[in-house]
Formats: sequence, structure tokens, C-alpha cells
Amino acid sequence: MHFIETRGNDGQYPEKVSFSEAILSPISSFGGIYSPVSLPDLGTAFLDAHTGSDYKTLARAVLTAFDIDIDAAIIGKALSLYDTFDDPTNPVPVVKVKDDLYISELWHGPTRAFKDMALQPFGTVLSSIAQDRDEHYLILAATSGDTGPAALETFKNKDNVQVACMYPDGGTSDVQRLQMVTEDAKNLKVIGVRGDFDDTQNALKKLLASQTFKATLKEKHILLSAANSVNFGRIIFQIIYHIHSYLELVRQDAIKNGDKVYLDVPSGNFGNALGGYYAMKMGLPVEKILIASNKNNILTQLINTGAYDLRDSEVVATTSPAMDILKSSNIERILFDMFGSERTKELMLQLDDDRHYQLSDAELQQLQNIFAADFCEDDEGKAYIKETFNNGYLMDPHTATCFKAYDTCRDKPLKTIVYSTAEWTKFSPVIANALSGEIDTHDIDALNSIAEKAGIKIPGIIKSLFDKEITQKTIIEKQDIEKEILAFL
Ligand SMILES: *Cc1c(COP(=O)(O)O)cnc(C)c1O
Repeated sequence: MHFIETRGNDGQYPEKVSFSEAILSPISSFGGIYSPVSLPDLGTAFLDAHTGSDYKTLARAVLTAFDIDIDAAIIGKALSLYDTFDDPTNPVPVVKVKDDLYISELWHGPTRAFKDMALQPFGTVLSSIAQDRDEHYLILAATSGDTGPAALETFKNKDNVQVACMYPDGGTSDVQRLQMVTEDAKNLKVIGVRGDFDDTQNALKKLLASQTFKATLKEKHILLSAANSVNFGRIIFQIIYHIHSYLELVRQDAIKNGDKVYLDVPSGNFGNALGGYYAMKMGLPVEKILIASNKNNILTQLINTGAYDLRDSEVVATTSPAMDILKSSNIERILFDMFGSERTKELMLQLDDDRHYQLSDAELQQLQNIFAADFCEDDEGKAYIKETFNNGYLMDPHTATCFKAYDTCRDKPLKTIVYSTAEWTKFSPVIANALSGEIDTHDIDALNSIAEKAGIKIPGIIKSLFDKEITQKTIIEKQDIEKEILAFL
């Protein structure tokens, strides 16, 4: 399997690269990203053959179909990370919540959010490639809350990689911050930045593009990489759980193999939804993929009107902060797959220059054949949390946005798989507010109140965070980030 660039090739980079090259190099021609040349066609025979497979067996079969240049032993080691999830025999439980609504829980890993699904195995793969090549990497990460803990967790104590992770001081929840600042492995550096998420994200982009920074690293024999959500090394692991969730419905006798379903995905950078799109193209019987957003509804606009318009929009803070995104990076891979590299380059340059592009009617039709979309305001989300809790299921505010799309975007009475991307423990103040109107400024109060109301315990992995020693104490101004990272190395 080879990878090519979404905006075409400028002659300075190789025309196509292997999987390992695609995941090590974060930049390519014209600012494009690497996408697979073609996708394996699995079809219903594959689904039939794997109806009885456990998660890791299915994962191995999907990765084999992609024919990637990674040793089977490394893949085996990477997939063994799913053994650390709550139930090693089924890391992704699928729970029936209404007659035709099933929730696929993607948060049973160590940091209690869906980023673990991809970052856990990705960390092993990247570190193993680095060791094979006898190279040392600095991995940069900027986080608004979930990526940071998941990246630190996967790379801690791994050979040949060091991680510098930046978060906006005061911009994350207590649980998210504690997950980062209590990490004490020697190869990890956590940096609180006085500013917002955009400040950390911009600092990361500037460092990735800086020739002098790279030259300084080179003197230390260190190469630069990023664990961001466009890395195909993460995307490939996000195809598997869509197929697994479908097969869970078959196993639960909710559907027969071949029946179509809706996938309902809470979306920000579109990595999760892209995995569903690839699974569908590989033969998974999907009627449509429903794209759920919050008030930052750029994806709803795109899918309903064909316009991607950033001109009058600014990110607004919502109760589902992991989806507070306007530049949704993985949309580029959809454009590329549907309309080719020349058109993708044209559209993405328009977006850079004019902050706007408009798809043609025919292109919009093509998009709407696959996707439908709606967005959910914070108050609507809280109402869904409360109603669903009263019916016996506790969910987080990101998952709640899917209930709006479920209510408005389906035109057939088909079974629907809603993807749950975070455990209730990660966004407890919003949930406590939805359930009882209380306003908690500290997570621990909200956690206690929800646990009592629901008659459940706060999971040990979260509770113990509040007693752990804080080892990562750096909080700096944004102009000091580069200096701080160099001092760490
Ligand atoms: C990252 C994240 C999302 C958004 O996923 P994308 O793949 O970026 O679309 C949704 N919910 C939670 C809790 C997340 O951490």
C-alpha cells in the first residue's frame, strides 16, 4: 500500500511513499497530507468471515488488507495495548440504548477518551520504526484536552522518542490537566502556556515549519514529528472500530450481515468520521454517515450547502470543547478521494487565501450521497444528557451532540451506531449541570455528585489523579516555548 499527497506532487518530495514514511513525515508538497492510493475491498465475505472474531483478530485482518510495511511482530505488540482496556476481550463495547440506537463506547482506554483508540497502538508503531532506523524523534503535541494525555500515555518510557506537549493553562478541565501534569517519565515534557488553544497550536505549527529549529535539533541528532490527527498512522486504527461496531450489531442479532446502518459521529477534525468513510468504501454496509457538530457548525454548513466559509466565523467555546474546531483537517482527504488532487489543491488554496470555498452542485450531491449533518446547541445537548440519563444511560456532552443528528438526519428506520468519544468523568461539571442544574467549578465536586446520583463509583484511574504528585510544573509565556523545549532536550 502506497500513499500520495492530497494536493499533488511538486517534484521535491517522492511521488509516493510507504506507510512508515507517510507517518514519519508531517509535511508534503503544497501543504497537502498523505492519503492511500487505493483502499482494500473487503466486502461482505470479509464480514462473514469475521463475525466471530475478537477485536485484535479483526484489527490484524484489516491491517493485513492494507499491506503496510510494518512487521507482524510490531503490529502484534501495538495491538496488545488494547489488552489494557477495561475488558481485554472487548475493548469497544456496543450498548443498546433505544430500539434502533446503539452506542459504541470508544473510551475504555487509559485516558478515558477515544484518542486512545488510535494513539495507544500508534505510539508503539512509531517508536518501533524509530528504533529500527536508529533515529531519535521529538514529537510535538498541542492539546485542548484529550490528545495531550493520550499522547503522553502512549509515548511514556518509549525508546527513541521524546514528547513535548503544550496545553493552554486554565483552558482544560481539572481531570485533563492532572492527567498531563502528573506524568513523570523522563522522556516527557508538559508545558502550560499562558494563552488559549490557538496560541499553542500556532506555536506548534511554527516550530514544525522552522528551519532554524530543525537545524538545532539536527545538531542533537533529533528529527521532528507530530502526533496530530491528520497522521495516517492514527487514521488506520480508526477504521477498525467501525467494522467492529457493525459486527457487534450482527452478534447482538440487531441486524443481519449486509443490512445497512447509520454511523453517527461527533466530529471536530474529522478523523473519526474519515475512518467510517474508509470503512464504508471498503465494503461496510452503511446507509449514511451522520456528522454531529456543536455550535461551531462549519461541517453542517459544508454538508448542507457545499460552502466552507471561515470569513465571519470565530471559534466559540462550548460544552463539547474537543469539537470546538473550524479548520477541520481531515476534510481534505474526503475532497481528495472524491474530486482528485488538482481540485483539492484549488479548494484548499482558496480556503487559505479567501477563507472560503464553494463546491459545485454535482460535487455537493456526491458529498450528500455519503454524509448528512446537523449541529447541537449546548442547551439541547444538556437536555439529551438528562433525558438519556433518566432512561438509564450516562453520557458525555460530545456523545450528546449525536442525538440531535439522530433525531433530524435519518430518513430511513435503520439501526444507528452513535460513537461515544469520552467517559462521563472527563466532562463532569457539564453533566452535573445538565442533571441537577448545579454549577461546579471543580471536577471533583461534580464527579462526586454524579457518582452519588447515578449510584456508581468514580473509577479509580480518575480518582487517584487527585492524590498524585504534580511533577510537571512548567507554565510559561508563549514566546518562551522554543527555549523551554530546547532546554528539555
Ligand atoms: C477528539 C475528540 C472528538 C473529535 O474527533 P475528530 O476525530 O477530531 O473529529 C470528539 N469527542 C472527543 C471527546 C474528542 O476527544
